[in-house]
Amino acid sequence: MQSRRGPCYDSRASLCYVTEKKSTQKLKDIAKRYPENYLSCRDHGHSWKPLEAAWLQDGSIERILACQRCEARRVQVLDKNGYVLGGHYDYSDGYAMVGMGRLDTDGRAIFRRASVQKLLG
Ligand SMILES: [Zn+2]
Repeated sequence: MQSRRGPCYDSRASLCYVTEKKSTQKLKDIAKRYPENYLSCRDHGHSWKPLEAAWLQDGSIERILACQRCEARRVQVLDKNGYVLGGHYDYSDGYAMVGMGRLDTDGRAIFRRASVQKLLG
């Protein structure tokens, strides 16, 4: 197995490996308990379906998309020509991993591995 050093936020370089190992184990623990639909979304991306749209007072458009698997919501604000002005995501309880930051390549691999395990049996 290839050993790779992940992002380290500690200026003391010798602690980076320990920090990475703790984070990796925590992600593996989360992946084990994660519901199957959450694993699918982490592995394949959300399955967005338009839910509703409305004109806002300033002439922009608010559009809400819903994930068909995990019920996450994607709220987008568009200008009248369809350009995205902004937006945010609302996730179901337990989907977001508070304090873990954005998943890097190694973190995504952990969830992909847990997802494919369902097929392997
Ligand atoms: Zn989803």
